[in-house]
Amino acid sequence: MTATIIDGLSYANKIINNIKYEVNKLKVKPKLVVILVGNDNASQIYVKNKQKRCLEVGIESEVLHFDEKIKQDKLLDIIKQLNEDIRVNAILVQMPLPSHINSNLIIETISPLKDVDGFHPYNVGKLALNMTPYSVACTPCGILKLLNAYNIEIKGKHVVIIGRSNIVGRPLALLLLNNDATVTVCHSKTENLKQITQTADILISAIGKAHLINSTFIKENAVIIDVGINRDKNNKLTGDVDFNDVFEKCNFITPVPKGVGPMTIAMLLQNTLDLYKTQNNI
Ligand code: NAD
Repeated sequence: MTATIIDGLSYANKIINNIKYEVNKLKVKPKLVVILVGNDNASQIYVKNKQKRCLEVGIESEVLHFDEKIKQDKLLDIIKQLNEDIRVNAILVQMPLPSHINSNLIIETISPLKDVDGFHPYNVGKLALNMTPYSVACTPCGILKLLNAYNIEIKGKHVVIIGRSNIVGRPLALLLLNNDATVTVCHSKTENLKQITQTADILISAIGKAHLINSTFIKENAVIIDVGINRDKNNKLTGDVDFNDVFEKCNFITPVPKGVGPMTIAMLLQNTLDLYKTQNNI
C-alpha cells in the first residue's frame, strides 16, 4: 500500500482564489502592515513573499523596515500608532527580533484585533479556553484545514505533536484538543519518543531536523503531517520526516515542499481578511 500525498499547494491555491474573489468585492481593501527589523536574509525573503501574495489577492500591504539598532520604545510607539490607525487591519512583526528587544512585550502590544499571527496572549488564551479568538496561528490553522479537506477524522484520534513552540506545537495542540482529538505533545526532553509516536493515529512533526522521523517511529496507516523546513546534506529542501522511508507504511502524508508551507501563507491572507471583517462588522 502507498500513501495519499496531501497536496497543500493545490488546496492553498484554492483558498487563495476564494480570498481574491472576496477581496475583489470590497470597496476598501484590507491592509496588512509588516514590521521588519534588521537585515536577516531569511526574514527578508519571508517578508517579500508575504507582500507578493498579498498583492496577488488584492490585500494592501506595507513593510516598515527598521535598522537592527532601533530602540524598543520606538518600536512599541510604532505598534501603538498602527493599533490606532483605522486603515490598518492587520499587524505582523517578523521574528526573530534583535536580542535587545523583548519579543513578548512586542507581541503583547499589538492589538488582539489586529494580531494576524494569532500570537497575542488574549487570542492564545481564548484558544486555550475553547472560546473564539480573533485569530489563530497560521500554521496550526493550515494543518487543521488540510486534515478537514482530506476528510481525516480527528475526533477521538490520538494526535502526537513533536514540538512545543508558541508558533506551531502549542497552539496546534489546543486547536486539535478543541476538535476532540486526544493530544500528546512531545519535545526535546521527552523520554521514549519513539514509543509515543508509534501510538499516533496522526503524527505531526515540527522539530526542524531533517529526516529525524523514519518508518520505525510510525504506526501502520498513520497520517503524517510534516511541518519541518530543513536543508539536507545536498542543500535540498526537506522536512523532518524521511518521506521515502515512511511512504509505504502511512495512509496520508504531506510533502515538503508543497505541503504545510503554502497553507501557512494562505492562512495569513485569510486571517487578514477575517480581521478586516471583524473590525468592519461584516
Ligand atoms: P522551534 O525550534 O521553536 O521548536 C522546535 C521544537 O522541536 C521544540 O519544541 C523542541 O523541543 C523540539 N525538538 C527539538 N529537537 C527534538 C528532538 N530531537 N526530539 C523531539 N523534539 C525535539 O521551531 P518551530 O518554530 O516550531 O519550527 C519547527 C520546524 O517547523 C522548523 O523546521 C521550521 O522551519 C518549521 N516551520 C514550518 C512552517 C511551515 O509553514 N511549514 C511554519 C513554522 C515553522
